[in-house]
Amino acid sequence: MGEHVDLYLPHHVGLQPIRVLNNIALYRLIHERSTVIKLLSIAVKNHGLDPEVKLIQGNDSLKIIGVSGRMWRTPYINTEKRLEAHETFLSLLWILSYSIFVLYSEKYCYPRLPDYKTNPKYDNASERIELAKRLYRYGKQIVVDFIDWDKNELPNPEKYIVQELDYIGQTKLYYTEAYKFIMYHELIHAVEHIDKISKETDDKTKLDFEIEADEKALKILYADVHQGYKFIVKCGSVISISSAMLLSSKIKGSTHPSFIERLKMVLEFEKTNDDHFAYGFACISIELWAEQWSVDLDANDDLNDCERFEYYYSQLKNK
Ligand SMILES: [Zn+2]
Repeated sequence: MGEHVDLYLPHHVGLQPIRVLNNIALYRLIHERSTVIKLLSIAVKNHGLDPEVKLIQGNDSLKIIGVSGRMWRTPYINTEKRLEAHETFLSLLWILSYSIFVLYSEKYCYPRLPDYKTNPKYDNASERIELAKRLYRYGKQIVVDFIDWDKNELPNPEKYIVQELDYIGQTKLYYTEAYKFIMYHELIHAVEHIDKISKETDDKTKLDFEIEADEKALKILYADVHQGYKFIVKCGSVISISSAMLLSSKIKGSTHPSFIERLKMVLEFEKTNDDHFAYGFACISIELWAEQWSVDLDANDDLNDCERFEYYYSQLKNK
């Protein structure tokens, strides 16, 4: 075992290892784009949004038990018009970022490299895949029943061995983009939809609002991003959609677009130099979803990442 890094400091607020990223993620969420500050001030001035984005701490399952109405502790605008994110949801987003990134790298990406069979750095692929799957199982666990994140056994953002630094560091990039996409989506609801929605609003209108929130969140996310970084943004938005896939076997609901159409939309939103990474992430998300919910999905190992996504899309779009 190598030397451990422990990033926890007393000023980190929260009970779960994700707490070490909360300050920086929140800072980047709000201050990275001038449009976000503008939208926030419109939401506060014109629509009564609380100016504080609140991080809720607690060792709670993602599923809300015993309260009618809200089912999940996913980010939302509460009845006091405050934008909230619960730390269990943020943990889950990090877990998905790590699992999807590692599974894609080890399963599809590295085996295509010319030195894959001869370079010893790829020797422990099966152990790493197993570790990513164990972490993913932990994620599924806290959706329904919270238990502590085992910081000594499972990958996490707070405490890890030095040799893990590269994986943990890359995960943080994807996680931050996924987090921003979800929160910008909520911010768009706060600016555009909060005063237009009521008990009488029909499903078609709600569906249109969801699509609009996705599209406008993506516009904020990509604004002024360097071309070489855009694929990270795209991978992040794929991960954020996979967080919804973890909660339901359904492909589509009445008030939200289907996950397969949402994936297609974020994948095709803007061309990037390394699009295939995000397509690969989407394929892993779909495979994890199909396995979780025992859905038959035909795989074809001769396809590249983009073709594989299209193949899955053709199987799921009419289901
Ligand atoms: Zn929404």
